[in-house]
This record gives sequence, C-alpha cells and structure tokens, in this order.
Amino acid sequence: MNNKPLILIVEDDERICNFISAILTSNDYHIIKTNKGKEAISMAASYSPDLILLDLGLPDLDGIEVIKTIRQWTEIPIIVVSARGQEQEKVEALDLGADDYLTKPFGTSELLARIRTGIRHSPKGVNVGYLESEKKTVGDFEINYAKRLVSIAGKEVHLTPIEYKIIVLLSKNIGKVLTHDYIMKEIWGPYTNERQALRVNMANIRRKLELNAAEPKYIVTEVGVGYRMIEGI
Ligand code: CA
Repeated sequence: MNNKPLILIVEDDERICNFISAILTSNDYHIIKTNKGKEAISMAASYSPDLILLDLGLPDLDGIEVIKTIRQWTEIPIIVVSARGQEQEKVEALDLGADDYLTKPFGTSELLARIRTGIRHSPKGVNVGYLESEKKTVGDFEINYAKRLVSIAGKEVHLTPIEYKIIVLLSKNIGKVLTHDYIMKEIWGPYTNERQALRVNMANIRRKLELNAAEPKYIVTEVGVGYRMIEGI
C-alpha cells in the first residue's frame, strides 16, 4: 500500500530534527519539516499532515501560539516536544489542545509508540473503529463497555460509578496522557475543582487494579501533568 502517514516535524534544533527525520523515514513515514512556527502553521494548512511533532521553543513564534492557531481549524494530532522539567508548559500545551508530549531526550521506541497512538486517535484514525470497540484488553485488564464490567485476569473488579467513569475515560484514550484538569472536567463537570477527589479515586482504582499500587503497570502518573493508561504490557 502506498498510503504512508505524513508527519510534519517542527524543530529548530537541527540535530534533533535530523534524528527524528531519520527514524521516521526508515519506519515508513513521509515527512515534511520546518524550523519556524509561522511556516508550521501554513504547512499544516496546505499539506494537512496526519500528525505534527512540535517543539515548543521556536525562534519566531512560541509553540503554544502555533497550537492555538492550528486548533482554530483542525484536530490534527499534535505531539509537543519539550525539555525536561517544563511541566507547566506541557500542561498548558495539552489543555490548549495538544494530544501528547515527548520529553527530550527521548528514544526511538518511545517516539514511534507516541506517533502510533496519536494517529490512531486522530479524526482520520477514528474510522478504523478502534474507539468504538465493545471492549478493551491490556495484559490481564479487561473492560467491557456494553456490560459495564472491569476485570483483572477474568475476575470482576468492583468499582464505584466515579471509579468506573475514570477508567472508561482513560481506557478510551489509551496511550494518551490526560491532564488533571481534563479528567476533572470530564468526570465532575466544568465548574468544580475536584483535585483531591481525583487523587483519592485514583488511589482506590490502583488498589483494585494493580498488583503493586506503588508501581502501577496499567495507569501511570505523569508527574505534574496527569495520568496515562498504558497501551501494551
Ligand atoms: Ca527549540
């Protein structure tokens, strides 16, 4: 099939840009690239790529502004590339509509996994039926949406309605990081701040799902950002 996904790389560090380009090209992606924010916006509009990898620190325009502009007209998945320790910036990017982030330095397998997840969650990817499937399995974990049933190794896990809602949200966005604010809005509505309730519910969920709640393998904490359900175990 000659239908390779097209990735737009926006990165002003030439070394990193070449590294990403080499990996993606050898893994059957088409790439286009730029080192400027304004050009990124016009390329996103004219090429309609399947996914955008966006460095936040660009010479002409802040990456945050690029996200705001692009999100005015398209839901193309955006993965933000950011330096270690810039959690606030990552949260801002995610809340403005970025889909995920990578922290420099990152490895090949991490980059490819995030891109696969991003493309699958894109508006174009939804028609593969992935998000509409009746159940989802990860390792010993299974959720059956039709029966509203969660089990571990075939054994039913008893959950409160809120715990179940949180697991549905995370599993329907499997592989993606969800920010604290996003989860709170989805579960409790837009006008509340239930950070403490989220923390308590998450602790209870882990106690029920995880063999070792201190080293969770299904739902991991992204420190300072939110939670992510792991895709493959
Ligand atoms: Ca940069």
